[in-house]
Amino acid sequence: MALPRSPAHRIASAPPGAFDGEVLVGGDEVERFRTDRSGYSPEGSPEAVVRARTVADVQRAVVHAREHRWTVVPRGAGTGLAGGAAAGAGSLVVDVSGLDRILEISADEAIAVVEPGVITARLDAAAEERGLRYAPDPASAAISTIGGNIATNAGGLRCVKYGVTGDAVLGLDVVLADGSLLHTGRRTVKGVAGLDLTSLFTGAEGTLGVIVGATLRLQPIPRKTITVAGWFDDVEQAATAVSAALAARVRPSLLELLDEPSVRRAEEHLGVGGARPGAFVVAQTDGFGAAEEAEVLADAFRLVTSRVRVGSDPHVAEELLAVRRAALPALETLGRPFIEDIALPRTRIAEATRRIATIAEHHDIPIFVFGHAGDGNLHPIIVAPSETREVLVRAEAAADEIFALALEFGGSITGEHGIGVLKRRWLARELGEDALRVQRSIRQALDPQGLFNRGKVW
Ligand SMILES: Cc1cc2nc3c(=O)[nH]c(=O)nc-3n(C[C@H](O)[C@H](O)[C@H](O)COP(=O)(O)OP(=O)(O)OC[C@H]3O[C@@H](n4cnc5c(N)ncnc54)[C@H](O)[C@@H]3O)c2cc1C
Repeated sequence: MALPRSPAHRIASAPPGAFDGEVLVGGDEVERFRTDRSGYSPEGSPEAVVRARTVADVQRAVVHAREHRWTVVPRGAGTGLAGGAAAGAGSLVVDVSGLDRILEISADEAIAVVEPGVITARLDAAAEERGLRYAPDPASAAISTIGGNIATNAGGLRCVKYGVTGDAVLGLDVVLADGSLLHTGRRTVKGVAGLDLTSLFTGAEGTLGVIVGATLRLQPIPRKTITVAGWFDDVEQAATAVSAALAARVRPSLLELLDEPSVRRAEEHLGVGGARPGAFVVAQTDGFGAAEEAEVLADAFRLVTSRVRVGSDPHVAEELLAVRRAALPALETLGRPFIEDIALPRTRIAEATRRIATIAEHHDIPIFVFGHAGDGNLHPIIVAPSETREVLVRAEAAADEIFALALEFGGSITGEHGIGVLKRRWLARELGEDALRVQRSIRQALDPQGLFNRGKVW
């Protein structure tokens, strides 16, 4: 049977050696690239998937897509929560997860040079062997890639002290729309020559090019870590403790909050249901002054609750953090979770949680709240008990009100997950027309054909 003469056919029948990696065309294997962990899927299926093995593969794929007027969808592990890596008709997926070598770890310079497909936790483990660590720690560290983390400027639990992914990126290698390879940034701690192109590509969600290499800053592993936990009657009380802790002028390395329903579900999930009722705040301090800082934090918590625990035992710390880590998997068992991600001024967390409770009541849909309170980054999780149209409409209406709330409070519609497809219609409201126009013109200058992630972000 003659193969159809589609562009997909041409890539499938490219001469052997045209790509060092595999090219997938059609079938179930391609279907899985239609979505990411957000669950969003566009119309149709990608024309092909190039599983790049080399930088040259990425360059050839970009040129090929340009010739066929396809859009290039860069993809790491597909754990994104905004639909950014979801690929439909007219797209060529460039999967860089196979470019996964750690090329260098310099203990003396405290830097790592990596390919984009390296799994985040693997880099951290490799750095640990040299007494260092890769500080950005998204909760998805065991399954997401460094390239995806950079493209989304991912956050994590340790951001409150060590910053987001972008704070650890010193330089990048990026394949541009004409297929050329651009090197940005540096290997040195300091360097201010020219515009900061590294920052431009960080958090661009794959709209400006494909990241094929990164030079990253590592941190020394702190000598001491102390964990402080507090249990509170309700989430407002917990948020008040967070504000008190931040006002005490200490720098926790982690400061997480969970509302009472999230704690209840997480504990049930862990098989310790009802162990410690109430809302929960867990914090850590690290470094040389960790014990002193921990006491200041504990005192701040004690202004609001008598249920406070302080300790340095790593097993106890893991046990306490397990509740935080179990929160999302526990909610996934209740229905379809819509994982929202707003950033707020940290002084307004208590007020925001009160308003979110009202939104949940108004739309008659459960909303659980937990998140990185130290950064003011909350994850209100709307759980749709079923996927009927009526329930999904209520879930969407609740999400819209949560975004509106974030903007009303002077915050952001996304603290770390990005815009992708799902928050696109909200972006202008946050940025304003002027900023949006400037951002679009930068995209236009770098990618005049709109090759990369067409229809996403802007
Ligand atoms: C259980 C769970 C927990 C999570 N926790 C966190 C968290 O704590 N903090 C957080 O920030 N996020 C979190 N996420 C979201 C997600 O893991 C992050 O957005 C992550 O950075 C995505 O990495 P990835 O490799 O899966 O990228 P993908 O999902 O493959 O892609 C994400 C976006 O980046 C682009 N992209 C990917 N690789 C490249 C590249 N090499 N060059 C250019 N563009 C590229 C894609 O086109 C897409 O727009 C979580 C997700 C899950 C499922």
